[in-house]
Formats: sequence, C-alpha cells, structure tokens
Amino acid sequence: MCLFCEIVAGNIPSTKVYEDDMILAFKDINPVAPVHIVVVPKLHIENVNGITEENSKYVSHIFEKIPEIAKSQGIDSYRVINNCGEDAGQSVMHLHFHIVGGTKLGEKII
Ligand code: AMP
Ligand code: ZN
Repeated sequence: MCLFCEIVAGNIPSTKVYEDDMILAFKDINPVAPVHIVVVPKLHIENVNGITEENSKYVSHIFEKIPEIAKSQGIDSYRVINNCGEDAGQSVMHLHFHIVGGTKLGEKII
C-alpha cells in the first residue's frame, strides 16, 4: 500500500480535518504555511494522469468539499496545489491536492 493508502486505512496516524466515504483531508506533516491541508481520494489514483471517467467523481467531490475544508481552518483565500509526476515535485504517488493559506502567500509560478 502507498503512504496515503496507509493513512486512509488508519495504519499510519494523521491529523484528520475532514473525512467522508470518498475523501480524507489531513494536516500536512511538513507545513509550508499556517494552514496546509492535504486532500486525498480514498481510492488509489496515482496522480492527475490517472484520472478517468470512472474515477473522476472522486476529484469533483474533493473540489466540492475544498471550500468547506478551508473554511473549517478559518480561511477563504488559499491556493490549491497539485504536483503531477516526479519532475513537478510529486513525492507521494497517490493523487492529492494541497490547500495552502493562512498567510499572505508569496512567490507564484503562474
Ligand atoms: P507532494 O510533494 O505534492 O507529493 O506532496 C506530498 C506531501 O505529503 C508533502 O507536502 C509532505 O509533507 C506530505 N506528507 C508526507 N508524509 C506525510 C504524513 N505521514 N502525514 C502528512 N503529510 C505527509
Ligand atoms: Zn494510495
């Protein structure tokens, strides 16, 4: 099992901030801002390249819940970041979206 599948299964502890039958959101272990949440589908999807018509409902559900998750952390302005693949800096090969905020964010690539 991959690291985030282990977290979903409860075999590795995490600080959960939201959970339902399809997704889990937890605090990033190495936060880059005061609020840094990782949102994952409970289904193992490697990254954006693994999204299909069959599993995209997990992705839409993540985005439906992101505003609520952000609000629960006291923010309504934030970045949603996804790294797809090694060259983009993806270190855990299980699809995830970072919610980063709680401060005035600096440098942008785009
Ligand atoms: P990425 O680099 O986009 O693949 O993001 C992976 C993220 O997972 C990094 O920001 C890590 O800090 C975070 N991370 C790694 N292990 C854990 C863990 N056990 N609990 C919470 N977050 C983790
Ligand atoms: Zn996984």
